[in-house]
Amino acid sequence: IERTKDPALARELLREVRRLAEKFVEVHGRPASFMEVCGSHTHALAEFGIKYALRDVLKLVSGPGCPVCVTDQQEIDAMIALADGEDRIITTFGDMLRVPGSRGSLMKAKAEGRADVRVVYSPSDAVEIAQKNPDKQVIFLGVGFETTIPVLAAAVYEAETLGLENFSMWMSGKLVEPIMRYLLDTGETRIDAFILPGHVATILGRKGFLWLAEEYGVNGVISGFEMNEILSSLYILLDLVLKGKAEIVNNYPYVVREEGNPGAWKLAEKYFMPVDMAWREIDVIPKSGMDFRPEYAHFDAKKRFPVTVGKPKPTACRCGEVIRGLIEPEECPLFGKACTPAHPIGPCMVSSEGACAAHYKYLRQ
Ligand code: SF4
Repeated sequence: IERTKDPALARELLREVRRLAEKFVEVHGRPASFMEVCGSHTHALAEFGIKYALRDVLKLVSGPGCPVCVTDQQEIDAMIALADGEDRIITTFGDMLRVPGSRGSLMKAKAEGRADVRVVYSPSDAVEIAQKNPDKQVIFLGVGFETTIPVLAAAVYEAETLGLENFSMWMSGKLVEPIMRYLLDTGETRIDAFILPGHVATILGRKGFLWLAEEYGVNGVISGFEMNEILSSLYILLDLVLKGKAEIVNNYPYVVREEGNPGAWKLAEKYFMPVDMAWREIDVIPKSGMDFRPEYAHFDAKKRFPVTVGKPKPTACRCGEVIRGLIEPEECPLFGKACTPAHPIGPCMVSSEGACAAHYKYLRQ
């Protein structure tokens, strides 16, 4: 609290959130259960101590908000297999580097000198590498949700404008609405309301989440990432569920517009289209991913460099249950023992947005 810009407000908000959370317990005989579907919220809730401070009166459940964590294991294996080959440079965001596949990781392939793997801060950096290395094929591993997908499209646009023939992308874009619908339809996780992802909402807008209240009668609050922004979002959600309302509230209005950013999404739709996609331990969800349109197959690494990998062997990692909110990371028997950030067994412990990494860093007893 002392680290926030307004500690007095934080204290007051925390008190009020607790008061409403206790009221919910009184009325319903159980704590309310709110799910966040954004890795940055997962970390903020843990880092600020909000999850811990409210643990006796409010269940804050992490959902499928970390793009690396939700990527199907077979696809991770394919990306790692793709790196083998002297003619190519694999470029990726840092999180992907240490994600364990069935046969090692990209980092291992790099350390063993089997692959040229480079971490970039933006897909545009990968385009620049392609420009500087005309004799190599440069492949970017495009993993991300709606916030990232337009950025990936911008890199393809750049490569197209430059006429680059040695740049391609392994596209694994994920869409938040289909996975939220999947969780609600299966009903396997109790979700009274959603803390909606502030970054994704910059693209989709408040409008992009109205289906949640209209079709499912479930509340959602688009939230920022500061302590007081999150606490005020929890307050709004508790107030709504106690009043029996179903609304989508934009509690991040200086960043998120009602309409989102249609221009950015238009660019994304120029190159990519919705496709059926497999999610880690969830199976294939119809139209839940974004991949290249057929007319842009020359940028599609899956088409240009096909790799075949077998079904991954089952492991004891329970990341699939963590990202569906079925278990807390501590309920995985490997948590903090065989699986640590230094020796991760699953992506949820590797990624800076993963729930296991957040719990290990901030909530470990
Ligand atoms: Fe997987 Fe490790 Fe998390 Fe267990 S603690 S679910 S092994 S990432």
